[in-house]
Amino acid sequence: MVNRRLIIAVDGPAGAGKSTIAKRIAEILELEYIDTGAMYRALTLKVIRAGIDPEDTENILKLMETTSIYFKDNHIYLDGTTVDNEIRKKIVNNNVSVISKIKEVRENMVHLQRSLAESSNLIMDGRDIGTVVLPNANYKFFITASIEERGRRRYKELLEKEEKNISYEQILTEIKNRDRIDSTRKIAPLKKSLDAYEIDTTEKTVEECVEEILRIIEGG
Ligand code: C5P
Repeated sequence: MVNRRLIIAVDGPAGAGKSTIAKRIAEILELEYIDTGAMYRALTLKVIRAGIDPEDTENILKLMETTSIYFKDNHIYLDGTTVDNEIRKKIVNNNVSVISKIKEVRENMVHLQRSLAESSNLIMDGRDIGTVVLPNANYKFFITASIEERGRRRYKELLEKEEKNISYEQILTEIKNRDRIDSTRKIAPLKKSLDAYEIDTTEKTVEECVEEILRIIEGG
């Protein structure tokens, strides 16, 4: 089949390696890569900059009406400006899950994400891609790793990028908190789609995980 669309959904908790793996698969298979977490992060950044309380749904929704979030050349744009680095800051990490619980926020993001998936072959990562956003994806993967390993990865990432005075224990607490909110929320909680392949990355290199995924795709 020459024109068969290829749509790959990747989900999993924070720090499991989703985006690193998805980016590699995108390069190898020449797919567009969509990081849906970046979209929720961009809105969160705008809410923080506007000084709005993350629990203040009414004002967040008002703000969202005049917000544009899009990707161009693999960069995330908020109202026309790239915010690749700003959205990775600790303050965004600590507030994004509360804002991502809001029903209207999710509806808006899911709508944007589905429209991105209409025209290209792509790999999209997030929390609800296989379950809600793209339930008909050709392949679904659920990427996990132990909480300790996820904490170590995020700790290393933050030290390289930003706050040097943060402890591993603090990161671990933050990730656990984010996982708890993401997996217990009412709408589109983080969970493995029944038809997803589970990949545990705890003791594997990125390349090993990528090969495992490619074997599944090539085999099917
Ligand atoms: O993937 P990342 O860790 O950047 O996602 C940041 C946050 O955005 C998640 O912790 C979650 O609260 C939210 N998110 C979501 N649904 C998605 C992607 C991310 O709720 N599809």
